[in-house]
Amino acid sequence: TAATSSSDTIAAIASASGAAGIGVVRVSGPRVPQIAHALLGRTPAPRHAHFTAFCSAEGELIDRGLLLYFPAPASYTGEHTLELQGHGSQALLDALLRRMCELGARLARPGEFTERAFLNGKLDLAQAEAVADLIAARSQAGARAALQSMEGVFSRKVDALLQALIALRVHIEAAIDFPEEEIDFLADPAIAHQLQTVRAALADLLREAQRGVRLNDGLRVAIIGRPNVGKSSLLNALAGSERAIVTNIAGTTRDVLRESISLDGVTLELADTAGLRETHDPVEREGVRRAHSERARADVVLLVTDVPHASDDLAWLHDLPVTIERIVIVNKIDLHDAAARIEHHDGASWLWLSVKTGHGLDALRERLKQLAGVGSGEGAFSARRRHVLALERVADHLDRAAHVLTATRAGELAAEELRHAQHALGEITGTYSSDDLLGAIFSSFCIGK
Ligand code: GDP
Ligand code: ZN
Repeated sequence: TAATSSSDTIAAIASASGAAGIGVVRVSGPRVPQIAHALLGRTPAPRHAHFTAFCSAEGELIDRGLLLYFPAPASYTGEHTLELQGHGSQALLDALLRRMCELGARLARPGEFTERAFLNGKLDLAQAEAVADLIAARSQAGARAALQSMEGVFSRKVDALLQALIALRVHIEAAIDFPEEEIDFLADPAIAHQLQTVRAALADLLREAQRGVRLNDGLRVAIIGRPNVGKSSLLNALAGSERAIVTNIAGTTRDVLRESISLDGVTLELADTAGLRETHDPVEREGVRRAHSERARADVVLLVTDVPHASDDLAWLHDLPVTIERIVIVNKIDLHDAAARIEHHDGASWLWLSVKTGHGLDALRERLKQLAGVGSGEGAFSARRRHVLALERVADHLDRAAHVLTATRAGELAAEELRHAQHALGEITGTYSSDDLLGAIFSSFCIGK
């Protein structure tokens, strides 16, 4: 699909559909200079706003508006591009788009402008994805983070890591090239140290990327616990207190109730699962099974209990992956005359609160915002799950390389692991990419971007 990009000229309505003050038609490709000439009657000045009539082939007025011409390569796509700003009427914009096609353009596919920008080296793949994430951002924190990624904050960190990895590979491959000295070379503590440094930098980047995914997609919170401990009340309290977007997400099952709420500019994806308990009723068992899978794919598991030391309930936290945050809610303190408080031990945050009176709920909100990445500072960038998965693969390969080096000193094997690590890292920014991956990424864009 990408191969045709430079030979033909694409056009699309770039503004949102529906009536609006202005609407934008965007055109990119080799025919743009002729199209611009046909519309304006002369060659437009680069990057100047020309106020002009947009006319049909028969000379009939379609609309009157601004024409902006960006010659290659100083344009979004890196090709000649044209931006026509007219009135935001769907009918007018459709007519203008048809006119572009008469003049030799074809309709653009979703994301095709950004795909061309990527193919022409205007932005890398992570930056291109950030463009779509920025457009789709549902919170200010999310939009800010996507902007950072679009500006290349994430990509530069990936590239720095890539350079360090390449240097390490060169070092090890040099050792392999001198087999009689290989053992000595590989025993060099500098190599082990270099590997450790890269591994530590990767761990940092992985954490930042995980936060970036949360900023992008929202924090996924699974609420679990026995029946009647107050799970649904808690969900309602979190959702209702915000006077913000409260939507039922499609795909709600009988057993898992989902709510998407906005907490001071961050999105929380809450899932209230069926009560967890051992049961022989097949229907209820299905509910428990879903609660389990919900638990495993969450960023945060909120275990609700109504007794302070419910060791049976706590068993639900034991086999969770370490990357999942655990919060234990000891609810109904109003019944026990206990004070709201927060503690951190046993790998979890413990919050004593009462959903009924509201005491302690603010501490929970703060903790959730913190976990969602809010207040994480200037440089917080957005990321996608595929980036995190790639970084996890890089970590695996680095660990294997380190193991091979210390256990066997097999330079070839270590170099091979580093090559895989380098490849996985390069997939993030698109140094290595397949047509399938590009297709999957750009087809999820909107048309005109
Ligand atoms: P779920 O089955 O875990 O979803 O529990 P519910 O949210 O349906 O609540 C079960 C019962 O506990 C309801 O009668 C709630 O009103 C009550 N409840 C929830 N939170 C509190 C609390 O903080 N204090 C008291 N006293 N009752 C509560
Ligand atoms: Zn419930």
